Amino acid sequence: MATRSAQALKKLSLKPRYGPFIGGKIPVHNPANGDLLSTVTSTSAEQANEAVNLAHETFKEGKWSRAPAIQRSLVLGKMARSLEKRIPELAELESLQTGRAIREMRAQLSRVPEWLDYYAALLRVHSGFVAPTQGPLLNYVNRIPLGVVVQITPFNHPLLIALKKIGPALAAGNSVIVKPSEQAPLTVLEFAEMALEAGLPPSVLTVLTGAGPELGRTLVSHPLVKKVDVTAGTNTGRAIGSLAGSNLASYTAELGGKAPVVVFEDADIAAAVNGVAFAAFIASGQTCVSATRLLVHESIYDEFMARLVEKVDKITKGMGDPLNPQSTMGTVISPASLERVAAAVRKSNRKILIGGEKMNGVSSLDGFDFSMGSFFAPTIVEDVGVEDELWKEEVFGPVLAVAKFENERHAVSLANDCKYGLGAGLWTQDLSRAHRIANELESGLVWVNTHHRNDPSSPWGGMKESGIGRENGIEAFESYSQSKSIIINVAQMDHARNTDDWFNAVDGNRRYG
Ligand code: NAD
Repeated sequence: MATRSAQALKKLSLKPRYGPFIGGKIPVHNPANGDLLSTVTSTSAEQANEAVNLAHETFKEGKWSRAPAIQRSLVLGKMARSLEKRIPELAELESLQTGRAIREMRAQLSRVPEWLDYYAALLRVHSGFVAPTQGPLLNYVNRIPLGVVVQITPFNHPLLIALKKIGPALAAGNSVIVKPSEQAPLTVLEFAEMALEAGLPPSVLTVLTGAGPELGRTLVSHPLVKKVDVTAGTNTGRAIGSLAGSNLASYTAELGGKAPVVVFEDADIAAAVNGVAFAAFIASGQTCVSATRLLVHESIYDEFMARLVEKVDKITKGMGDPLNPQSTMGTVISPASLERVAAAVRKSNRKILIGGEKMNGVSSLDGFDFSMGSFFAPTIVEDVGVEDELWKEEVFGPVLAVAKFENERHAVSLANDCKYGLGAGLWTQDLSRAHRIANELESGLVWVNTHHRNDPSSPWGGMKESGIGRENGIEAFESYSQSKSIIINVAQMDHARNTDDWFNAVDGNRRYG
């Protein structure tokens, strides 16, 4: 094991293995050097079914599902505080299991407790309502939890995405089963222990590890599962959705993306260059809203691209050990992923302005040896056409495809010429244009003069093949609960006796409905 990972592991509370391994085991590797970090259980179908049954019994028992909102709020608050304390350590663990730069993981994890705090606060203010029905009736409406919910999460933001889902699901009172990505499950496993320590009753939150097509499928197929919430590739989302549909379970799916970023001729060029570099290369391009299609107005194209290439060159030269706080960008998740990214660039046959290959040799930042890891250089490919795969398909790596546009109509049509519709960005200093174009872009999220902003209060989700439903906000909380309408006759009983005897007098004046 390379010294750096070994040193980092020693400091962490990371266990050499997680789980009893009754059903087999899955190794978790560091993508930066191939080191074995830990081993997790490959949960068998029998264990998974048992876990769902237990979660269901726990739900019925009511310790959490019927707990007063204030009590759930207090526990979520405690979870947030204990998560805060462990951020430095968990950020290292995220960096080790994903290969992402520590600087990114520290910044990202520092925001994660906000999701627990947000839903803890929502529980104190969210109320039912009285429906304005007719006649002597009191109709009040409460929200009640769904039951057992299954959450399937990806490798790219392991803890953030899990907490975006766990927060509203627990707040609403459900029993939650999370299946994190088999490639990066460690921080979510650590969180489950913290949740117990914070006072969550046992079996309200269960984390099960295993491969998607086996464990994921088993969980989603269980008839006691009342909601499935997945963040994954679009094909995975379709496969899971059809299973959830056949059980009449609710479904939220945050799927793939191919975010366009449009830079108009009136943009602040320096700010836009910084913004595009961030959008394209944070997380080595492995976010669902990564800028993957850059559209630049023809009148500023040469200047803009020269400055962007210069910026990307700096990113490349600043890469090193992902655990080095100075390092600018990390790896992609695995050697297989690296090969897929390289093949997509090779096949495109377009002009590569910078990057385009696996990184080997030694980092000029800190001497880190790139050759053992899945480091792909930040890449820009020029003159990509709308029929090119690089324009149409998600690459999920640090690859930015670029095209020029002539005018607004052209930009909007290029941006919308895509099956995905999750995130989009535009850069302009013209206020009217910003609103006009933001409204025309077919995406669930549009950023103007910024990119990838996320907040527990801000709806997150896609149009078209990028998914259905929304994370964050009151919408997510409500999607984890169902309304229950209680209608009470407040009339005196002699009135009820006289007016509500439907079969007494067939005079056509009785109220129905
Ligand atoms: P993936 O689809 O390979 O796996 C995601 C999860 O689904 C994993 O836990 C995996 O084990 C599980 N899974 C895979 N096949 C399954 C099946 N047949 N049944 C049940 N579960 C299954 O995705 P990934 O490579 O981990 O993540 C990258 C993808 O996630 C990209 O497409 C990205 O755009 C998407 N993503 C979307 C968002 C969003 O908010 N829309 C956010 C992050 C990532």
